[in-house]
Amino acid sequence: MGGILVLRGHVLPVAGAPLADGLVVVEDGRISYVGPAGRGPHVAATATEVDVGGGTVLPGMIDAHVHLVADGAPDFMGSVVGSTPAALAAVSAANALRALQAGTVAVRDLGAPGGIAIDVGREIAAGRLPGAGVSAAGRAITAPGGHIPYLGVEVLGEEAMAAAAREELARGAGGIKLVATGGVLTPGAALGNAPFAEDELAAAAAAARDQGRWVAAHAIGNEGTRRALRAGATSVEHGYLLDDETVGLMATTGAVLVTTQVAVARMLRNRHLVDPAVVARAEEIHGVAVESLRRAARAGIPIAGATDAGTPFNPHGGVAEEAALLVADIGLTTTQALRAVTATAARCLLRPDLGHLSVGAPGHVVVTAGNPLDDVAALTDVRAVVLAGRQVDRPTTTPTTGGTA
Ligand SMILES: [Zn+2]
Repeated sequence: MGGILVLRGHVLPVAGAPLADGLVVVEDGRISYVGPAGRGPHVAATATEVDVGGGTVLPGMIDAHVHLVADGAPDFMGSVVGSTPAALAAVSAANALRALQAGTVAVRDLGAPGGIAIDVGREIAAGRLPGAGVSAAGRAITAPGGHIPYLGVEVLGEEAMAAAAREELARGAGGIKLVATGGVLTPGAALGNAPFAEDELAAAAAAARDQGRWVAAHAIGNEGTRRALRAGATSVEHGYLLDDETVGLMATTGAVLVTTQVAVARMLRNRHLVDPAVVARAEEIHGVAVESLRRAARAGIPIAGATDAGTPFNPHGGVAEEAALLVADIGLTTTQALRAVTATAARCLLRPDLGHLSVGAPGHVVVTAGNPLDDVAALTDVRAVVLAGRQVDRPTTTPTTGGTA
């Protein structure tokens, strides 16, 4: 990992004010300087200079909610249950690489069969596979007959919940995923369902929090969301139906709201190819969801933008599009939206060292053609990606539909 890499130009550190004429130096994989170019250190002639080309230098993006085992195929469940573990591992590796090439340097995987996402993350962390870093939940913990059993394990009862959580953590999970309500992609699981008692959620959450790990709650309806928050969830996933009381409770717990609007937007864009029952459900909640997320934003709830990548027509690497939706639909400023897909998303992974350019932080840097603070869509036009001080090889064109693995 030796060597020095420098980037000069317009810099958005996220941790501090924009620098019109900035310099970022990465040494041995870590940032050693970020600040005005004029006050920067003397850089050896042997250093690698990344061509910023009048673009903007910013921290690598983070996607706080993905499913690496799926690549955006129209039949999400079918693509998972119809594949062998080896095939799913290969798809996961390809998706982690695809995310990285799009400028996402770390993802949080919230549900995969067996230990697939954990294992792929371990290979990436060891440098044996190229890709975005992975913090994985392992199997999602869901109730019998609940949402996404094919990405998890069906559990009931406090002791079994704690045991299931401990099993994933022992396997190397970065945290746990609790399916606290119904979901859009599971017909029959009403969105307002609250399949777990608060004590059941709390038993699993305590097992994770005792080990300093995160607790992500798939939470759409109010009752299930409130139980998850009281049980110790560190993030609320989706949050489509939150009322004032639930938002108020969230404000007291410090949980992060993880939005996944791009999943709905991309599915509705391809509605003619999706199961009509799922489309009807997505349409039914779309307007309400926007109101719910606006309510949370107005209340000052920290918002992380994520993709739920892997769901129908939602290939990996699209977190920049979520940032654009946070501005267009939820009313965030461009500065807030940038933070949502960098520093706040990193908070969901319990990785305060990621999502900002600061001395000592890992040298994960992205260059965009335009300035995301002027137009947040600039985040979708990534020109260079640097991971731990090394420039990532990228395809010249990025496919726009499901993966090819
Ligand atoms: Zn998900």
